[in-house]
Amino acid sequence: MKKRRFGISLDEDLFEELDRAARAIGADRSRLISLATREYLVERIHFERVHECEGVLVASYPAESKGEVDKLLENSGSLVLSRSHFHSRGGCCVEVIYLRGSSDSVWSLHAAIGRICRACRYIPTCL
Ligand SMILES: [Zn+2]
Ligand SMILES: [Zn+2]
Repeated sequence: MKKRRFGISLDEDLFEELDRAARAIGADRSRLISLATREYLVERIHFERVHECEGVLVASYPAESKGEVDKLLENSGSLVLSRSHFHSRGGCCVEVIYLRGSSDSVWSLHAAIGRICRACRYIPTCL
């Protein structure tokens, strides 16, 4: 496939992380940026078309935010099919949530939880 070159500016620490990660998987930086971009775009494109969505949301957050997360999930009504709560060794709350509903509501919940969480990932199973 034809390649296009362009300059990228990254924060120093992000650049170092990228360099380390690329070496760890034996790829060069361009290859890793290519993989990461594709992954990100697939995630974005998923929500461009409104559809009946379902998937697993994994979120970890500091214990003091539990009240906020509980309220969000309780207000999400039938979107939340099931929810499991764990505690990581580092003392974080980890939530594994199965969601089913319109992709718009999934997107909003993901965004709202993402503002509270340290790490938050949605894995669609509606594909
Ligand atoms: Zn979906
Ligand atoms: Zn907890």
